[in-house]
Amino acid sequence: MKFAFIKRKYLLGGIAAIILLVFILGSYNLLWNNRNSFEKHDKDLTWYGIDVSFNPQDGRLDCKQRVYYINTEKDSIINIYFHIYPNSFKYEEKAVFPPEEMSRAYPDGFSPGFLEFSNLKLNGKPASYTTQGYSDDILMISLEQALEPGDRADIWMEYTVKLPRSPGRFGYWDNTYNLGNWYPILCVYDERGWNLEPYYTLGDPFYSDISNYKVSISAPKDFIIASTGELMAIDEGKDQNIWHFEAVTVRDFAWVASQKFKTSSMTIGDTTIYSYYYTQEAGEKALDYGASALRIFNELFGAYPYGTLSIVQSDFFIGGMEYPQLVMIDGSLYETEQDYWLEVVVVHEVAHQWWYGLVGNDQIYDSWLDEALTEYSTILYYGQRYGQEEEHSKYQELIDKGRYQLFKVYRDSEDMDETIQRPLYEFEDWIEYDALVYGKGAIMFHEVRQEMGDENFIKVLKTYFENNKFQNAKPEDLFKACETVTGQNWESFFNQWLHDRN
Ligand SMILES: [Zn+2]
Repeated sequence: MKFAFIKRKYLLGGIAAIILLVFILGSYNLLWNNRNSFEKHDKDLTWYGIDVSFNPQDGRLDCKQRVYYINTEKDSIINIYFHIYPNSFKYEEKAVFPPEEMSRAYPDGFSPGFLEFSNLKLNGKPASYTTQGYSDDILMISLEQALEPGDRADIWMEYTVKLPRSPGRFGYWDNTYNLGNWYPILCVYDERGWNLEPYYTLGDPFYSDISNYKVSISAPKDFIIASTGELMAIDEGKDQNIWHFEAVTVRDFAWVASQKFKTSSMTIGDTTIYSYYYTQEAGEKALDYGASALRIFNELFGAYPYGTLSIVQSDFFIGGMEYPQLVMIDGSLYETEQDYWLEVVVVHEVAHQWWYGLVGNDQIYDSWLDEALTEYSTILYYGQRYGQEEEHSKYQELIDKGRYQLFKVYRDSEDMDETIQRPLYEFEDWIEYDALVYGKGAIMFHEVRQEMGDENFIKVLKTYFENNKFQNAKPEDLFKACETVTGQNWESFFNQWLHDRN
């Protein structure tokens, strides 16, 4: 995410692989008590098991969720907190969209989304819990006794999710049902304690830990589901199919459902990359852009470790959005005249698989850490694929059209606060956020690259990736990678870019 400025300025194969999997059937049940398949992957992770009944007619999900939480902190814990992001969509006056986006977020008028619990248990007994926060978007479960480091709590939830009629990360429109941030997900406990930030209107206001997931979705037979993780099997019923997914070492689980999806796929190394689309011609192009990005970033940063990556055309009104192993791409970018932006957005969201997906960070307080690096990674892709020397190359076109110009124009025209390092809620609007976090942030990385040289710069990215993958990184981890590679301290260099007001 997120390409608000595109819209402001440029207002914008077959399902063979899946059918094959239908034959790999068997009585595949989500065994709530069978943790073995996760524990063999990583016994020190929290795992989620979610059983979903998807009712598209009513825009509703009926869910049963088990969370087998592990306290991986050094502190003992007395309460456990979850984000209930669907509740951020409950009240119009507290909407997650800035006022100028409301008409595009709700073309038919405001439509509420929310989550209601019907049953909540802790270690097999009725749980003591409250909902709290700006939009009742935080769930607090009180523990009977403190949970010591290394101990687990077993949480059972039954709940209903209502989707808003809205073409956003969470909601549905004519072509797709977009399920981002749709289930209760654990808050992150770090040196600040529990992070209970609400769903801010700017940026990607999320922060989560790597976990394991087993998700089964019962959906009407005519739906195709793209998701995080690997499709293990489809149980075929008379009217409904049950799709079984497993996702290992990911920080979130998202899915998109549609009756209109066609798919194409390609294999890059150990990864099958899928394009899901309802606009035929551009679906193949999206696959090519995604596959090329995967190949280039594997080379530049380090290997993408998952078996699948899905590029999904969605009813999504602002550019694109990244989730682990799945990116939602604004359906209107698949129109022929938007081809240039389709490539930019697909590549940007694929780069997020490294910066956000694998190397995570607090996207509320350190949003530049993944966003600016992702923006600059997009430039690296263009340099690698099309060459950066030629005057009229696509690389040069990106520099000319992109947010770098937005920042320069912004800087020249206003006496503005140019601080990049600030929490999401301290940015005025999307224009300021775009100009500073993406624009100035990418220029900062370009300057770092010039200063240390291409070879060192790529070594830094590889080192940063290798040392921080499957974790949440801090800015200091990036500075440390710079120092490891070059033998010099880069902190003041970065800090000047990050903290200077102008
Ligand atoms: Zn982004």
